[in-house]
Amino acid sequence: MADDTTGQSRRTILGGMTFGGMTGSLFAAGAAQAAPGTQDQVPPNPVTEYPRPPFARQQQPWPGLASLMNPPPDHGETSYRGSGRLLGRKALITGGDSGIGRAAAIAYAREGADVAINYLPAEESDAQEVAALIRAAGRKAVALPGDLRSEEFCTKLVTDAAANLDGLDIVVSNAARQVWQPSIEKISTQQFDDTFKTNVYAMFWILRAAAPLLKPGSAIIATASVNAYEPSRGLLDYAATKGAIMIFVKALAKQMAERGVRVNAVAPGPIWTPLQPSGGQPPEALSEFGADTPMQRPGQPAELAPLYVLLASHEATFTTGQVFGAAGGRGGP
Ligand code: NAD
Ligand code: MG
Repeated sequence: MADDTTGQSRRTILGGMTFGGMTGSLFAAGAAQAAPGTQDQVPPNPVTEYPRPPFARQQQPWPGLASLMNPPPDHGETSYRGSGRLLGRKALITGGDSGIGRAAAIAYAREGADVAINYLPAEESDAQEVAALIRAAGRKAVALPGDLRSEEFCTKLVTDAAANLDGLDIVVSNAARQVWQPSIEKISTQQFDDTFKTNVYAMFWILRAAAPLLKPGSAIIATASVNAYEPSRGLLDYAATKGAIMIFVKALAKQMAERGVRVNAVAPGPIWTPLQPSGGQPPEALSEFGADTPMQRPGQPAELAPLYVLLASHEATFTTGQVFGAAGGRGGP
């Protein structure tokens, strides 16, 4: 197409001007081209692009709201641009109201998917912001509040999502409970139970209910953590659930492969979300949150969305049973 040729030669010139001769010749060979609808630009420096510690001291009651965080997390509200990579897909995302789940929900909608989100009733205001963003992308938003610690609710969540979306082909098991405690003696049986119910049992209940509905080409994505590989000393129960999620994904991938359904996980490092000021970190540690990564800052939810898109999309067709890290240079898969 004439427009494409014009676009490429313009990019070649800009590439040469911006990045110097060597990169310019790569551009000329067509090795790097801007996605349709995007503009040529110098990539920002990932080290300095986002907020860095120290952060203002802050605490919220569980489960926390993104709207009350300072600075506000970046979920890609103003930055994520889709290019039809999930056109017509139907996704359920748990914990879709805030943080990483919200970033995935925004990205999925802008890539052309209809999206159902689950969250707790206390998070309705965050959830409504997400639903409005999904609708603004021209896609259907389905809000399904409820507590994932109930097997009955998890089963109904899947049925309701599939009924409202008229099918289901992406399931993102992302919700989690994280309560920091200084020692094993401080972890109550109730806390241990809540953490395993939310992070492990709910994933099992949801995916067991979803499995018979998922046709070939569908994708399952779970959110693990750097804690699956490098546990924080104050997150004993949480880290154990993340290890369980990581290995559950690898085993389930083996079962689902012959059905044409891929199963993968993302393992984030420290990410600026309401999980942390609502009990996930001791308040005094939060002001230095992310300082221990080689990038010396926490990640923002928006920085993870492209991984969730890739793993859901039909581009990653030979990728299953894998865990993808995004931890600013810290340990992980
Ligand atoms: P977040 O607080 O924005 O999201 C977690 C969500 O879990 C909440 O929004 C809430 O809706 C949901 N949830 C918790 N308990 C629930 C329950 N009983 N019923 C229904 N929903 C419930 O925080 P986030 O950091 O975006 O967390 C998303 C995922 O990322 C989690 O699996 C978390 O373990 C993982 N993760 C986060 C970090 C980090 O530093 N923020 C690091 C590694 C992994
Ligand atoms: Mg939330």
